Amino acid sequence: EAKKHGGNRYVFFSQELANQNERVRLIANNVVHALANQEYFMVYQPVYDLSTKKITSYEALLRWESPIIGQVSPVEFIPLLEESDLIIPVGRWIFRQVITQIKLWEEEGHEDFHVAINISVKHMMHPDFLYDVKSIIHEMKISPQRLIFEITETVAVQNTDLAIQILSELNILGVKTALDDFGTGYSSLSVLKLLPIQQVKVDRSFIVEMEQDGEKSLVILQGVLDIAKNLGMSTVMEGVETPEQLELLRELGAQKIQGYLISRPVVAELAIELRKQTWLH
Ligand code: C2E
Ligand code: MG
Ligand code: MG
Ligand code: MG
Repeated sequence: EAKKHGGNRYVFFSQELANQNERVRLIANNVVHALANQEYFMVYQPVYDLSTKKITSYEALLRWESPIIGQVSPVEFIPLLEESDLIIPVGRWIFRQVITQIKLWEEEGHEDFHVAINISVKHMMHPDFLYDVKSIIHEMKISPQRLIFEITETVAVQNTDLAIQILSELNILGVKTALDDFGTGYSSLSVLKLLPIQQVKVDRSFIVEMEQDGEKSLVILQGVLDIAKNLGMSTVMEGVETPEQLELLRELGAQKIQGYLISRPVVAELAIELRKQTWLH
């Protein structure tokens, strides 16, 4: 019986698996040359403040457009960069790219917002990390206050001592720090009081759960927002896609939101255009 039906299924699944393996192999082989071949670019996604109705920051997100594979998500290739040492030159390229963009915006008179950069764990652990940050800021002559550095909760939990040290050094430089993907790890609340961070980015999974399981999830989310607020941190809700979600979040006292409802991540020129728009949300 299993063999009779399973026969075709097996062929089907093995083909799918083979395609998947082929994609993983293609990504691994091609990502090695992506930096030198200039296949990376940055996009910027606005973070919107519900009380001022203004875009208060942008998150810089890496994109890879491979001529062979097409668009590849950072979720698929950043772990590969982290496994090799490639994430270090790519991380430096990202700093330079984003800080150059901030400088360009400044020259056009756009300077009343922050720009957030995601830090990879391997770059954070590299002995040159702080030097890299300092030297690019100094070279481009931007104000460090313009920058927010995000580290994920998982990274913070697994490397708490180093994270505390690096984040405080960043704060001393004048750079703001944020805890990303909050709620996806296991020691969520204790890490909040340990880390020198000014912002908590609450993971999108909270929004998904809020809609699926209702009341209890709402209470937990409300608790998270209240705790962060009472610790003096600002909060950003990630992954807000619908007006219904926004209304629920408003009732819970959310301050800032990021998600497709406001805008997808877009190239710099489009991102800055969004600031001229009048927002009704
Ligand atoms: P993240 O830092 O939590 O970034 C947020 C991700 O959520 C982005 O995916 C963004 O496009 C997506 N997103 C935003 N709004 C919505 C929404 O309303 N609905 C849904 N479904 N998704 C939304 P992206 O750009 O694919 O990045 C994924 C992850 O890859 C990032 O998660 C971050 O961990 C990593 N990453 C991206 N760019 C960089 C980078 O420059 N450096 C490092 N180290 N990591 C990066
Ligand atoms: Mg992030
Ligand atoms: Mg995030
Ligand atoms: Mg996330």
